[in-house]
Amino acid sequence: MEMFGQNVFNQSVMRDKLPKAVFKNLKKTIDEGLPLDPSIADVVAAAMKEWAVERGATHFTHWFQPMTGITAEKHDAFLSPTESGALLEFSGKELVKGEPDASSFPSGGLRATFEARGYTAWDCTSPAFLREEADVVTLCIPTAFCSYTGEALDKKVPLLRSMEALSAQAVRVLKLFGNTDVTRVTSTVGAEQEYFLVDKSFYLKRPDLMMAGRTLFGAMSSKGQEMEDHYFGSIKERVLSYMKEVNEELWKLGVTAKTQHNEVAPGQFELAPIFENTNIATDHNQMVMEVLKRVALRHDMVCLLHEKPFAGVNGSGKHNNWSMSSNDGQNLLEPGHTPHENAQFLTFLMATIKAVDTYAGLLRCSCANAGNEYRLGANEAPPAIISVFLGEQLADIIDQIVAGVTKSSSLSGHMDIGVNTLPSLPKDATDRNRTSPFAFTGNKFEFRMLGSSFSISGPNIIINTIIAQALKEFADVLEKSTNFEADLDQLLQETAKKHKRVIFNGNNYSDEWVQEAAKRGLPNIPSTPDALKELVSKEAQEVFAAHNVFSEKEVHARYEIMLEQYVKTLNIEALTMIDMANHSIIPTAIEYATTVASSINAVTAVSSKLDVSTQKGLLEELSDKLAAMSANTKALEKALEDALNIADADKQAAAFRANVFAKMLELRATADALEKIIAAKYWPLPTYREMLFVL
Ligand code: ADP
Ligand code: MG
Repeated sequence: MEMFGQNVFNQSVMRDKLPKAVFKNLKKTIDEGLPLDPSIADVVAAAMKEWAVERGATHFTHWFQPMTGITAEKHDAFLSPTESGALLEFSGKELVKGEPDASSFPSGGLRATFEARGYTAWDCTSPAFLREEADVVTLCIPTAFCSYTGEALDKKVPLLRSMEALSAQAVRVLKLFGNTDVTRVTSTVGAEQEYFLVDKSFYLKRPDLMMAGRTLFGAMSSKGQEMEDHYFGSIKERVLSYMKEVNEELWKLGVTAKTQHNEVAPGQFELAPIFENTNIATDHNQMVMEVLKRVALRHDMVCLLHEKPFAGVNGSGKHNNWSMSSNDGQNLLEPGHTPHENAQFLTFLMATIKAVDTYAGLLRCSCANAGNEYRLGANEAPPAIISVFLGEQLADIIDQIVAGVTKSSSLSGHMDIGVNTLPSLPKDATDRNRTSPFAFTGNKFEFRMLGSSFSISGPNIIINTIIAQALKEFADVLEKSTNFEADLDQLLQETAKKHKRVIFNGNNYSDEWVQEAAKRGLPNIPSTPDALKELVSKEAQEVFAAHNVFSEKEVHARYEIMLEQYVKTLNIEALTMIDMANHSIIPTAIEYATTVASSINAVTAVSSKLDVSTQKGLLEELSDKLAAMSANTKALEKALEDALNIADADKQAAAFRANVFAKMLELRATADALEKIIAAKYWPLPTYREMLFVL
């Protein structure tokens, strides 16, 4: 209990350190989302500095989330020179605003090079914290990052905007149900984080892990995950002591690391915190990823957050558990106890279904990157088709709403139709479907498409915005209503009819579903460049503009950045493969072939009657595969060169996906075949067996 939050400038520290009036003022800003009163900045900064310095801090940094997907910081000492020496100083101005040179962060053309200034602005709704690394303590201040002209250059600004949009529309709908005291609705998130651990000595011998974060070559070991003996298995001592340290670090930072277990693949694990406000959950997930990586090194391990570090076993994702809660304490996706509460619940549920169906492409887009391309649709993670799982009972209720007739509910005996007369829904009535990309799990939705390396900001910006839009459309109709119950019934029925197609309660990993989804007209977008295009569709731009989440310029900038990141990632991977092929795999195969050839000569020199058929067979196979290896390396070089020569960004990304991607797979296949026939002592790379099973 003492440890939890000890490195956080949280509300209880603020209450201690700040004058009463200032504390009340700041708390109001945080709780009600009001603009910050600039007159309190100096006092807050002084208190923050005093607290940080007491704890050994010498520096502070604005901590922000540029479009790289990781966090950025620039440290400044609290130092200020005086006539007689120096003072420790931290002004309100330094707290509230920073001016990092922003020219080296991706901006998608939003920042002309002659205007490289970027601004960071204090986000007082996410608490400042102390980072302890070795014996260096740094005060980190969560900030938003934008351009000189006010465009968002980061992952926080649009997230906060989307949360505002959701709040505004959800409050409108709640008012219609008589919740007149509610002034704010907050989206909440609990992000389950998957990751791999490998021994550092293996990592250092794998250029692909070091450069690309994943293995670009590697034959599968004789055992993978098929025995299902790793999932929830007892945790190895070395990993346990790692997890203990991770938890302690996170608890100090106020991150509620709660659940930990082995995941499906060998060497794979999961950490889940308790849900919280989406803005803070996003900051905390960034800290989780940083701490996972940093602590691993202390244990001579490396934490891999890549979506698909190893072919042939499961990749790593992130489950984004999402709901909405009102400032009078209701979880808006919690089925109620009375018919009235249930009508409200069904309205929010239906808004979610409508949003997911209408903007399925955007949701898919929010989970698109080069790494996740190996998971989505690859029979282990949700397919690239968006659908909603509701569970039998809720699906039955939706059917009845559609039919508009009375029939008996599958679980609750007889019931009348009409939202004003629904039975109370038992919590946890949903079964545990594990294959749906967007699953209702009793009192929240679980969006399961996210990749493990993601900032959860992007997907949550989309979820918040599209649900705000659905709620807006509901509120627009219902606010004009003169017979609320009848009109609500009708609205829900129409909505259910129109969007029922997105509901699917079966096995999402099956081939039948892919066919069924096509029949229903649901989009299936396996390729990352195709998925990214959804961001700049007309509907997407309209919904972003309607809720002030992204301007047209900002959307295009983001599209450009994501496309560029895709191309850069594949470029690095292809170059690494070519390098490994030419400098390590091909020379190894030649060396081994020479050894085998020498053996043939040596043995036949003793007696021509001796049987050298094994060596000869092997040499033939080696020579064939070596030739293929060399040809495939050249083919990849060519595909890469051609793709790099394309000037148009869309066409270039498409060429990377169609050609470079395919050639990489072919090259890998030949290398993996060589690995299987080359003597272990010659093979230059740590094997899958070592990387996956030695911890
Ligand atoms: P599972 O492994 O079955 O998916 P876990 O219990 O590991 O489930 O994770 C569930 C996650 O959902 C936790 O992070 C939990 O805090 C979160 N969660 C619970 N209620 C809500 C809610 N109302 N809003 C958002 N997240 C929630
Ligand atoms: Mg889960």
